[in-house]
Amino acid sequence: MKDSIRKVVVVGGGTAGWMSAALLRRVLREPIEIELVESEEIGIVGVGEATIPPIQHVNAVLGLDEAEFLRETRSTIKLAIRFEHWRVPGEQYYHTFGAPGRSQAFCHFHHFWTRAQQAGYETDLWGYDLNYLCCEAGKFAKLQVPDPMWELKYAYHFDASLYGRFLRTYSEQRGVRRTEGLIEEVMVHPESGDVTALRLRGGNTVEGDFFIDCSGIRGLLIQQKLGAGFEDWSHWLPCDRALAVPSERFEKTAPFTRAIAHGAGWQWRIPLQHRNGNGLVYSSNHLGDDEAASILLGNLDSQATGEPRLIRFRTGRTRRQWDRNVVAVGLSSGFLEPLESTSIYLIQSAVVRLLHLFPHAGVTPELVEEYNRQSQVEYELIRDFIIMHYWLNEREDTPFWRDLRGMDVPERLRQKTALFRANGTLTQDQYDIFLESSWLQVMLGQGVVPKDYHPIADGLTDAQLREKLDNTRKLKAEPLEKLPLHDEFLQMFCGTKPA
Ligand SMILES: Cc1cc2nc3c(=O)[nH]c(=O)nc-3n(C[C@H](O)[C@H](O)[C@H](O)COP(=O)(O)OP(=O)(O)OC[C@H]3O[C@@H](n4cnc5c(N)ncnc54)[C@H](O)[C@@H]3O)c2cc1C
Repeated sequence: MKDSIRKVVVVGGGTAGWMSAALLRRVLREPIEIELVESEEIGIVGVGEATIPPIQHVNAVLGLDEAEFLRETRSTIKLAIRFEHWRVPGEQYYHTFGAPGRSQAFCHFHHFWTRAQQAGYETDLWGYDLNYLCCEAGKFAKLQVPDPMWELKYAYHFDASLYGRFLRTYSEQRGVRRTEGLIEEVMVHPESGDVTALRLRGGNTVEGDFFIDCSGIRGLLIQQKLGAGFEDWSHWLPCDRALAVPSERFEKTAPFTRAIAHGAGWQWRIPLQHRNGNGLVYSSNHLGDDEAASILLGNLDSQATGEPRLIRFRTGRTRRQWDRNVVAVGLSSGFLEPLESTSIYLIQSAVVRLLHLFPHAGVTPELVEEYNRQSQVEYELIRDFIIMHYWLNEREDTPFWRDLRGMDVPERLRQKTALFRANGTLTQDQYDIFLESSWLQVMLGQGVVPKDYHPIADGLTDAQLREKLDNTRKLKAEPLEKLPLHDEFLQMFCGTKPA
């Protein structure tokens, strides 16, 4: 009965393909064979350099040495994203991986802060967050702390092609077979409709029992062969193009990503050990490619080291991400623009979900339905979080921003925002990768200020409230002085000198 799946074929060798192959090989028992097919002629999308903290679980499951990982992928540390000019031009805020202050049972810290704000005791909420303080000071260290107050939550910026190479070596060393070849035909069983094999240029075929479609935006199996359907979300997220260009390494490596809004989208700036990654994300209905290129190149910190490369995309999700004996992972499963660096996380989450629901005894409708249900909810929650950045803008400068402010957003987002605006309440949905502190920071940063706060915050006198806030701020900042600069940390930890 068990192990009716003897061979899994991974189609594609981008981040999705190699991450899937590595995790599957690590977790699935040995008799199950894993083969990955990729075509150097087609190549990979080659962007995707900023991550979020759950990537550390991937590294832990794979048993990677963190220093080696940082060295091989030329990684830097990411503590936050700094959003510049999003609410109005000239303003900025951070979405950090940390959380302000210390919450207590039934009452988040920001309720005390809201009460203090209303009492005229002016404080900056981010001043109670160690992640933020480290971003501003350009510092980082891996803290072994007895108190979660001093936890620094982090992720990585890495070179996407080095990351793929790293995972490829890992996978091949553990028995994943790699086949180079251009797939010309996807063959299906005439009765069941299941995919049975891939025919490569030159005539060779690769057979399998189960297929992971990591073929990128084209969705070779899931869309082109099985027609799993696509749900288009471009009416909420109209950016549909990106121009990417590397530039020379900036002298000081910031431990955060920058997301800089412009008239018809935004620009990313990602610091690596050896270079900067840059890109302009924009709506082609509002901005021409030439103008986009000149905005991108005119707004670099350092000299460009190549020509801008154009990437077209469509925002939305594949309706049936698991269809018959095929699961779509990576760009073939859909795409949400890279504003919150969620695509690589979605790869991880898809593979983990598949491992939980793996069809050892054969594919059943129940497994497929459950997988698709979970992935739909997860995608929609991330979608809403990203829409929020655009919807809650107060920019008057271009039709792009004015139109987005007036759009009809998904009901769940409208409710969540209304609840927070009314009395600071934040809720956490199952499968939402963004914790309350993320929603808090972006809502506040985009100008949503709670009108009221939880009555527990009234349990302190004015003097006690001030004391609590002052003490919290001091405590949070305590480790800061002793921390090394981010570049010093990289040098000490990886044993390499940044280029
Ligand atoms: C502009 C932009 C910025 C991004 N930034 C981020 C970010 O900061 N953080 C983040 O998490 N994500 C980001 N992403 C997403 C991230 O790049 C992708 O999630 C990730 O690279 C996975 O891509 P993939 O492996 O699905 O597809 P690809 O990299 O496109 O790989 C597809 C693979 O399929 C193979 N293939 C396709 N057709 C065939 C065929 N016929 N025969 C044989 N092989 C075939 C190709 O050779 C290739 O190996 C970004 C995406 C874009 C577009």
